[in-house]
Amino acid sequence: MAYRITRRHEIHCGHRVTGHESKCAHLHGHAYVFDLTCEAAELDPLGRVIDFAVIKERVCRWLEDVWDHRMLLWQHDPMLPGLRALDPSVVAVPFNPTAENIARFVVDVVGPQTLEGTGVRLVAVSVQETSKCSAQYEAPRHDA
Ligand SMILES: [Zn+2]
Repeated sequence: MAYRITRRHEIHCGHRVTGHESKCAHLHGHAYVFDLTCEAAELDPLGRVIDFAVIKERVCRWLEDVWDHRMLLWQHDPMLPGLRALDPSVVAVPFNPTAENIARFVVDVVGPQTLEGTGVRLVAVSVQETSKCSAQYEAPRHDA
């Protein structure tokens, strides 16, 4: 049994999906809404998984500092070198930036990095690209 809490955060990014069959291959952007779910086996002395403010200060801050108002492109996207030459703020990510891959990267990389030392795990992330489309990724369970 475990307790879970979720904090929502919104950032704005450009991206494109390399190799997409249709218009997602074009440079475009989204108001990405992240639902960041943290888990702990036990509550702290006040009865919390973790203070919501800690998620904001760590995970949401990372999203703000590294991705917000940036163009996210796959490191192997053929457009990357040319666009980076025009604008060094373009971010090269180690995955084709679909909502699914963004969710997985936040769970696998951003969560462990930003929540280190808290005793809390970021176990699931939902990434909403539009009001109609979102993707979720959940970390494999430790006890599985
Ligand atoms: Zn898109």
